[in-house]
Amino acid sequence: MNSYQVDSEGFYGEFGGAYVPEILYKCVHDLQGAYRGIIESAEFKNEYHALLRDYVGRPSPLYHAQRMSETYGCRLYLKREDLNHTGAHKINNTIGQILLARRMGKTRIIAETGAGQHGVATATVCALMGMQCEVFMGATDVERQHTNVERMRMLGATVHPVRTGNMTLSDACSEAIRDWCCHPADTFYIVGSTMGPHPYPDLVARMQSVISEEIKWQLQEKVGRDYPDYLIACIGGGSNAAGTIYHYMDDERVHIVLAEAGGHGWDTDHTAATMHRGTVGILHGAKMLVMQDDDGQIQEAFTISAGLDYPGVGPMHCNMAVKGRTKVLSINDDEAIRGGYELTRMEGIIPAIESAHAIAALSKLTFKADDVVVLTVSGRGDKDVETYLANKQMAGDYGNF
Ligand SMILES: *Cc1c(COP(=O)(O)O)cnc(C)c1O
Repeated sequence: MNSYQVDSEGFYGEFGGAYVPEILYKCVHDLQGAYRGIIESAEFKNEYHALLRDYVGRPSPLYHAQRMSETYGCRLYLKREDLNHTGAHKINNTIGQILLARRMGKTRIIAETGAGQHGVATATVCALMGMQCEVFMGATDVERQHTNVERMRMLGATVHPVRTGNMTLSDACSEAIRDWCCHPADTFYIVGSTMGPHPYPDLVARMQSVISEEIKWQLQEKVGRDYPDYLIACIGGGSNAAGTIYHYMDDERVHIVLAEAGGHGWDTDHTAATMHRGTVGILHGAKMLVMQDDDGQIQEAFTISAGLDYPGVGPMHCNMAVKGRTKVLSINDDEAIRGGYELTRMEGIIPAIESAHAIAALSKLTFKADDVVVLTVSGRGDKDVETYLANKQMAGDYGNF
C-alpha cells in the first residue's frame, strides 16, 4: 500500500524535514520525541475531544447541498467548518497544540498570523487556558485586518507588528522563529498550518484529521458508505485540506481535488499558486515548493484571499501533488468571488473567500450523477463581506443588486 504519511525522519518523499537554527535544535528535537506519545494518550484524547465537542461545537455538520447538487449533477455534501467557534477550522489545531504545550510544561505561547484568523484562534485558546500569548503579524496585515487585531487584543494577546520584508505573513513567520530562538525553554510556538519543521506538518495534520474522521461516519449514515468519490478543499499552507483528506490519503477510490489561489492567474506575477509555480526550496524550516526567483529570493504571493497568501505550501501536499495523488487547480480571484456569491445565493451560506476557491473548483470538474462529492467549507465569510461587495462586478448575475 502507498503511504503519503510522514516518514521517521520527518519527510514526505523529498519534502519536509527540519531545517532549523542550531539554537532551536533541542526544542524541536524534544517536540519530535514527545508529540506522538502525548497526543495518542487516552488522557489527551479525552480532554481534546471534550473541548472539540463542548467548546468548538463539533461534530461540524455534513450538509447535503441540494440546489448546488442539481447545478453540478452530483451529490454534493458540505463539511461545515464555518460553524466552528471562531468561524473556521483553525481552532481544531490550536486547541490540540495548547494542550500539548501545557503537557510539555511551556508557559508562553507565540504564533504567526497573516489574515489574523490563526492569531485569533490562538489568542482564543490562550484566554481559555490562561496563558501568555504573543502574536507576530506583518505591519501591512495589521492595517488590512484591523478587526482581527482588535479581537486578539481583546482576548488578551500582545500583537507585534513586523516591519521587515513585505511586512506580511512570510515575514511574520520569520519573526516568530526569531522570537522562539530567544526563548526556547519556556515558549511553545503554535504553528497555524501544515508548515514548518518536522513535526509540525504532521502534528497539525493529525489535529485537523478530526474533519475526515467525522466525514467517514457521517457519510456512512447519509449515503451508506464511508468514502466519497471526490474530496475538495482549498489550500494555503494545507491544514484544512490535510484534515479533509487525512483518512483517505491511501484510498485510491477517492479523488482528491485541491484549489490553490491563482490571484490574477498562475502564469502572471500576481499569484499565490505555489504548486503551479513553485520550485523546491527551503522556507520556514522545511523543504517544499516555494515561489522564488532564480537567486532563491522568495517572491511575494498575491491573492484576494488573505488566508491563502503564502509563497509556500506544506510538504505533505507537495509530495502528493508531484506524485499525482492530488489534482491541484488554480482558481483566480474572479472565479473565487463568483463561487462565494454562488454558494451564498444557492444555499444561503456566505463562505470565507478562501473556501470560495474550493466552490469554484466544482465548475472545472465533470461528475457522474451518483458521485458523492464532499467539499470542505473551511470558514465563514463575515470577515470578507467588504471584499465581496467591492468585487461584486466579478460575480456575473449574482452581482446585480
Ligand atoms: C487560514 C485559512 C485557510 C488556509 O489555511 P490552510 O492551512 O491551507 O487550511 C483556509 N480557509 C480559512 C477560512 C482560513 O482561515
